[in-house]
Amino acid sequence: MTGKAENYSSDFITFSKDYGKIFSCDDTVYEKYLKPSVSFALKNWNNYIGKENSLGLKFDFELGIVENKSLPNAICGFNGHKHIILMYHTFPIFLLEFFYRLLCNERVLKHKGNTLDYDKKFHSHLKSPPGFSILSGEVQIKHIDDISNKLAPLCAIRKEIADKLYHYAMVLIWEHEFAHAINGHVHFVQNNLSSNSLNEKYLNSSNLLNVNRAISYIEMSADKGASFNLVVGDLYKKSKTAFEIISNSEEFIFDYSLKILAGSFLSLFWMLSDVVDSNGDFKSIDYWTDHPSSLARAINFTLSPITQCESLPLDEELKYIVKKATEFCYVELINLGNDWGICRPFNWLNRKDMFSKVFHEKHRLSNIETEELISKLKKYRYI
Ligand SMILES: [Zn+2]
Repeated sequence: MTGKAENYSSDFITFSKDYGKIFSCDDTVYEKYLKPSVSFALKNWNNYIGKENSLGLKFDFELGIVENKSLPNAICGFNGHKHIILMYHTFPIFLLEFFYRLLCNERVLKHKGNTLDYDKKFHSHLKSPPGFSILSGEVQIKHIDDISNKLAPLCAIRKEIADKLYHYAMVLIWEHEFAHAINGHVHFVQNNLSSNSLNEKYLNSSNLLNVNRAISYIEMSADKGASFNLVVGDLYKKSKTAFEIISNSEEFIFDYSLKILAGSFLSLFWMLSDVVDSNGDFKSIDYWTDHPSSLARAINFTLSPITQCESLPLDEELKYIVKKATEFCYVELINLGNDWGICRPFNWLNRKDMFSKVFHEKHRLSNIETEELISKLKKYRYI
């Protein structure tokens, strides 16, 4: 992907028509806002081109951004030849706003840099939650750079953290969609639910309970795959190259903490988006138990690196880094849960009944159903 409309294949152009005009951006915008996440993702996924699944299909994909003013969304589809991965152009815009406004809030990552008085004053008049002031018209932008000019933290350290979180969250979105592609989720949906794409909005509107459960499973596993590539897999790869891991380097561990936090915050963004979407009351954010739930996804993102670490033959030093990074996130999220209304759902991390309530029985496939689903998915997988 280059952000240039003329570089797309006819497959891509035909498929993306239903979702909006192909988004075209200049090189500076591409370099600054898209390239870091796109190149991270492509480094992993280009290796899978040409891999065959048991139906004889060869893996190929193309990704791009479409102009679509609806709530941010990403889509993974299959057009008969290749997987097409699309992101609405609102996604980078809203996410950038979201992370800038989070980092302007003194409660977020309290001990990093300074939240200047200006940040507090400037943002206090905004009624919409972080990520939604452009959508609501409270903040007007003509160019994506305006977000930085109007909403970025004044403290350079906090701006840098917000930028990192933004790029990591973008990686997770691309990687999540790739996980749908490579694991054959899209073929499964085509053959079992007669849709040619996996699209969060469509999935949530389905009221067939067993379909929802299967989709919950698929969504969670795509999140796990995305988080693996960004956190544990990335760390593992680094350990295999000429790279010296210094486990007591605070900066290094903090960077991995941000990778984990990016997933938890991305899920917070989904929670807020769910509320905005249903014109709901923000107090309801306290009771996030429905599934497929953005809260379950937040918890999944926070805890899955440590679980993945345990099940891999990683050396102790790597495990230590993931453990430290996870602890850091855990404390941050619990503090935010106590301190800031919109983050209240994170208090679930401290509840003894968390697993039974958030990942509630009735929202989950039984063991037998899970095995059935896994065996159905198997024939579509490219790995
Ligand atoms: Zn998905």
